[in-house]
Amino acid sequence: MEKKQFQAESRRLLELMIHSIYTHKEIFLRELISNASDAIDKIYYKALTDDSLSFNKEDYYIKVVPDKENRTLKIIDTGIGMTKEEMENNLGTIAKSGSLAFKSENEIKDGHEIIGQFGVGFYSAFMVSDVVTVISKALGSEQAYKWESSGADGYTIEPIEKESVGTEIILKIKENTEDENYDEYLEEYGLQAIIKKYSDFIRYPIKMNIANEEKIINSMVPIWRKNKNELTPEDYENFYKEKHYGFDKPIKHIHISVDGTVRYHAILFIPEKIPFDYYTKEYEKGLELYSNGVLIMSKCPDLLPDYFSFVKGMVDSEDLSLNISREMLQHDRQLKLIAKNIKSKIKSQLLSLLKDEREKYEEFYRSFGRQLKFGVYHEFGSHKEELQDLLMFYSSKEKKLVTLEEYVSRMPEDQKYIYYATGETYERIEKMPQTELVAEKGYEILYFTEDIDEFAIKMLMTYKDKEFKSVSSGDLGIETEESQNQREDDQENIALFDSMKKILADKVKDVRASKRLKTHPVCFSTEGEVSIEMEKILKAMPNNQNIQAEKVLEINTNHPVFHSLKEAFEKDQEKFTLYTNLLYHQALLIEGLPIEDPVEFTNDICKIMV
Ligand code: ADP
Ligand code: MG
Repeated sequence: MEKKQFQAESRRLLELMIHSIYTHKEIFLRELISNASDAIDKIYYKALTDDSLSFNKEDYYIKVVPDKENRTLKIIDTGIGMTKEEMENNLGTIAKSGSLAFKSENEIKDGHEIIGQFGVGFYSAFMVSDVVTVISKALGSEQAYKWESSGADGYTIEPIEKESVGTEIILKIKENTEDENYDEYLEEYGLQAIIKKYSDFIRYPIKMNIANEEKIINSMVPIWRKNKNELTPEDYENFYKEKHYGFDKPIKHIHISVDGTVRYHAILFIPEKIPFDYYTKEYEKGLELYSNGVLIMSKCPDLLPDYFSFVKGMVDSEDLSLNISREMLQHDRQLKLIAKNIKSKIKSQLLSLLKDEREKYEEFYRSFGRQLKFGVYHEFGSHKEELQDLLMFYSSKEKKLVTLEEYVSRMPEDQKYIYYATGETYERIEKMPQTELVAEKGYEILYFTEDIDEFAIKMLMTYKDKEFKSVSSGDLGIETEESQNQREDDQENIALFDSMKKILADKVKDVRASKRLKTHPVCFSTEGEVSIEMEKILKAMPNNQNIQAEKVLEINTNHPVFHSLKEAFEKDQEKFTLYTNLLYHQALLIEGLPIEDPVEFTNDICKIMV
């Protein structure tokens, strides 16, 4: 018998496949089952146009037969079969699409889910087998053929007896090695689990004997192909659990069926609780991706933008090729369309949740609001417009989370800015001296307690043309009679402030009469882009040690303490220095900033006590 060589490309692929270590060898079964399903499809479509053929659904199935003793696994189908030429052409060469994906060897070595990525289906059988035998009888042929190969050294083809049309693939399963347990591909329960996982929604029955009883393993009609009206909320919840998307109960499900330029079905979930690893770099975003009922990727990251990385679920499309690499997938036009479509669906569903079920939205927001704010900040704010209406912040007036839309809609006419204050907790912000003037004006203040808040807002810059303004920033944009007086105070006390500035040297940028303080004697404001909160956050990260907020020490000239300060300035320089340092340290304490020399500070306090 003549031994034929594989075509050069196929040989290279085979070698790679056999010699590399793949983490997902089990996908060979998915590939063989999907080929079997394709083969049945082919008869089905033929029957649609050929009157001499009838398609009797019961006659078409896939059967999986493990044989532990002989270490063989058979995958039998009643599909269209292959002629001798088809065996030569289809099993001896890589399908065109496969070879495209195969451009660079490097790409292949990187991938750990190589088959899933490259879909070079049939060859994956060699990952688990020493010998692969294909016995097939094509529709309309009298003669059946046997194709056999033990890998890189080529294959043989010879005539054989076979009664019915269809294909039988016989794998001689490898012996176990130290790292790999091949036995699981001979165990009924192991096989059942693999079929469930990857091929549950194949349209034809996949049969297997379990404990000597023939069973149909796959459920065949996927929930996402069903009509929404037929499904109950429990169905979706069960699906969520079955798929292990999470242990919680999802807040919302989104069922999409699109029959437009790109056809797809999707079921998406918005979880209630944060997965334990969500805000770590271990967390992988992505949706399950099916091509016509066959799982091709369990986490396709390209389907979700980072800011919606919390969304769980799956997408099934008829328009995606199975033979598509991850590399190519990123550039796939269909996939991009689907991703875009999904993104806007998620957004509109979140907005309607916010509108109609506010409590649920707030619950969602407590878990994932941070991610949305990261989304505003990331990529230089390129998604900020998309996300701004999903944001919420705690309001000084409402004492609950409010949206920017709500804030702006009730701004008094004379209010120029959207005010915010940053701090560790709502309680601490409430007591911040810097909020006094804004609060007295009756303006609402948004409380920022998360690291990301101020960074996100700096990226947003404006909402509905209103600028954001920190209550600690130099100019609050509020003109009052007092601020006129304050300016005069500044003039009047110019020598005093200069002197304080000298004492504090490079610790502050300026010392001024405050326009914002009402009852407190002292506070900091900042100039420039970096606020005190931002300085704290940035300093906590490596490489940012030099970042400094430009601090201005503001003194309340109406406070009794100021009169003592003035008196000391005129009469007692030593006391004046002491007071200046004390006021500076008080401002640090109010901001929650560390005091550089606590011993000196307590000594200073003792000095005024004795
Ligand atoms: P793909 O399925 O993406 O075309 P595969 O490597 O999985 O690539 O299969 C190669 C080809 O071999 C198929 O396109 C098909 O023509 C043929 N083939 C494989 N398995 C079967 C089968 N069970 N019945 C009929 N033809 C098959
Ligand atoms: Mg295939």
